Amino acid sequence: MTPVSVYDEKPWLARYPEGQPGSITCEHPDMVALFRATVARHGDRDALRYFDGRITYRELDVLSDALAAGLLADGFTAGERVAIFVQNDPQYVIALLGTWKAGGIAVNVNPMNRERELRLILTDSGASVLVTLEGLYRDVAAAVVGDTAVRTVLTTSELDHQTRRDLRILADVERIGAAAGTVDLGALLERFRGQRPPTVSPAPDDTAVLTYTSGTTGPPKGAMNTHANLVFSAHTYRGFCGLGPDDVVLGVAPLFHITGLVAGVAVAMLLGAPLVLFHRFEPAAVVDLVRAERPTFTVGSITVFIALMNAPNADPDALRSLTRIWSGGAPIPPSTVTAFQELYGQTIHNVYGLTETTSPSHCTPRDADPPVDETSGALSVGVPVYDTIVRIVDENGRELPPGEVGEIVTTGPQVVKGYWNKPEETAAALPDGTLHTGDVGYMDADGWFYVVDRKKDQINAGGYKVWPREVEDVLYEHPAVREAAVVGVPDPYRGETVKAFVSLRPGTSATEEELIAFAKDRMAAYKYPRQVEFLDDIPKTASGKLLRRELKVRTQ
Ligand code: AMP
Repeated sequence: MTPVSVYDEKPWLARYPEGQPGSITCEHPDMVALFRATVARHGDRDALRYFDGRITYRELDVLSDALAAGLLADGFTAGERVAIFVQNDPQYVIALLGTWKAGGIAVNVNPMNRERELRLILTDSGASVLVTLEGLYRDVAAAVVGDTAVRTVLTTSELDHQTRRDLRILADVERIGAAAGTVDLGALLERFRGQRPPTVSPAPDDTAVLTYTSGTTGPPKGAMNTHANLVFSAHTYRGFCGLGPDDVVLGVAPLFHITGLVAGVAVAMLLGAPLVLFHRFEPAAVVDLVRAERPTFTVGSITVFIALMNAPNADPDALRSLTRIWSGGAPIPPSTVTAFQELYGQTIHNVYGLTETTSPSHCTPRDADPPVDETSGALSVGVPVYDTIVRIVDENGRELPPGEVGEIVTTGPQVVKGYWNKPEETAAALPDGTLHTGDVGYMDADGWFYVVDRKKDQINAGGYKVWPREVEDVLYEHPAVREAAVVGVPDPYRGETVKAFVSLRPGTSATEEELIAFAKDRMAAYKYPRQVEFLDDIPKTASGKLLRRELKVRTQ
């Protein structure tokens, strides 16, 4: 990586934030080296806090060594993939590190995925190992793994690594035990405890994780976030958010999503700070947890902070420790920032990026007061982070001057090298390594950026991305559906939610409830349509392309 100063290319950026360095040098070449350095420096500190459970950096080192040794004894070889299908549990971090130490690539899988979605990811990634929760194995994975290259399934329980039995978040969890054909992760760690796998040193450009994003066409694509991408983005958060070893990180963003992985796991590892995990988001429980654990830093989608404001136990004192809050993944209404500040006294800072930029490409520096666009009311997403060149371009790829609206295209050390086994999609989205984001925005004269629209058809339901095509494909599986077109419609909590327009085959019938239930059964909870409207015909272009934009206008 050759450090270039962003200010050489865009001198006006030097005006803000004052004195901010244009380049940073990362201390570690890869995530394994970064983790080892932290173990050496801060071995006795808590790495993970999970309710009343504590795992120090040294213990995390021992546990992940044991997993790597176990994988290697099972015939695992460098470059193989390990799919991790759990919630925000300590086992996610153990599995991630164990995979890297065995020379493998981790595959992040959303625990909301149902059979169809899991099958696509396991097939595309060719994962040979699956780490999952006992309940998810029983309900989802058991029916899928036989059709894939998975040869080892390690199951675990969210009740492990802590002793509380009175928690609401874990109230529905039952201990099931390892099913036939699976291996208990805890037992494996015990068996290999104390063994050290041979030291691996991934190359900076080696893929560390595959993070799946759905595509406008075809199956989901695995963005290849490299070790260098992760190390760089961890340093970005540390610099822009002003973090140090005394911080405590609240892992509120889902760890399978790139922001949860970077702003939670990678940042905590870089700082030698504890990462507070709590299985899944439940607003009242998180308010109590913040009061008890006193985390200082978190990054989450704006719906998280809206939910925290509406928690029954919200009181002005509750989030006092959380002085460094950033939100990304979806537009942030400035009114929400104000309301949050009034209730909790804390500022929500904007951060913008994509899976393909390994979380932040733009960030609001900690002490800055970001401007709001007067016409659209959009809060600035911040300024480009270190060593990152962002251009606004027109339809022909020509760079536009400040103030003019076009597509945001980005180059920088956090941009992924491509999609797993998808050279054509890589060439289309990342020509010459420059990411075409599909987001539409502009930069003002002072170098602040604003996201005002999307070129892509993607629906953004509170940070969860839904591609209309995927929902349409599921609706087409229903025997009564002739045509389906899916769009995002405004929603007061999520920003946007999913609506389907459907025309039925002659002589058949189906109700709105029936189609909703049909889709709900087959996809992650945030994807199925909340509304279905029946039309005789779906508007189309002469070539037969669905006119989603036209349908969207009808709903406004
Ligand atoms: P993902 O790959 O899930 O991280 O989604 C990336 C997309 O989320 C971007 O292309 C944007 O459309 C949207 N996004 C991310 N951060 C922001 C933000 N701060 N404000 C508005 N939209 C955002």
